[in-house]
Amino acid sequence: MTHRTTPAPRICGNCDGFASVAITLGGRDPRGHLRTITANCPACNGLGVTRSHRNREGARA
Ligand SMILES: [Zn+2]
Repeated sequence: MTHRTTPAPRICGNCDGFASVAITLGGRDPRGHLRTITANCPACNGLGVTRSHRNREGARA
């Protein structure tokens, strides 16, 4: 049985790891660049990974 000392980061299930995306708004600005906005995953705040909400260390009496 293996034991990990540090838990591996879990890929965010809401964004599947793609936490930050650029969304095109359509059209281009006067310089010819695509107009985009950046959206971060609200579940992981753009990190792409989720952390366990349980704190095992704190659960010890
Ligand atoms: Zn996410």
